[in-house]
Amino acid sequence: MRRSLIQFKDKDITKIFEILPTLTPLNDSDRRTICLKQFQFDSKRIIGSCSTTCRKGYPQVIVMYPVNLTSSTISSGILRLTCPHLVREIDQLEREGSVKKYNENLTNKPEIIEDFLQSHETWRTIRKLAMNEEEVSFVQTKLQDRANDVFESGLIGIPKGRYLSISN
Ligand SMILES: [Zn+2]
Repeated sequence: MRRSLIQFKDKDITKIFEILPTLTPLNDSDRRTICLKQFQFDSKRIIGSCSTTCRKGYPQVIVMYPVNLTSSTISSGILRLTCPHLVREIDQLEREGSVKKYNENLTNKPEIIEDFLQSHETWRTIRKLAMNEEEVSFVQTKLQDRANDVFESGLIGIPKGRYLSISN
């Protein structure tokens, strides 16, 4: 458990913006921020939002910090869809069985498998960059043996042991 602590330094958010070039910090006066207010996320919990907005001005996705010491909460899924129109469309795709189709691709399309594994690595890195030592200690204290599930999870918090599966 201690071993993984060495990998965590103070948060280096600039690296996250390098990894995700379309991520933009929130700015109080900007329309994206105003649209996000309806989700009632504390803006201090948001690293940034996707610079692309829909026609109604909603950012499509935000990236959040995994740990909130103020509310003592931990969330390994640090990506949130924030455009209600996009959420509705994705819900529709899921109702039509897209998750099953996607999982099938993850068992028989090597090029997709490789991309998906790379995405997990990227999100694992981002999550680590978004935690400082105090937050890492908090996760270890609170989750004990399950702390590494948070540190090692990939895209949308998928645990390492299930990297090649998505569920809904
Ligand atoms: Zn929208």
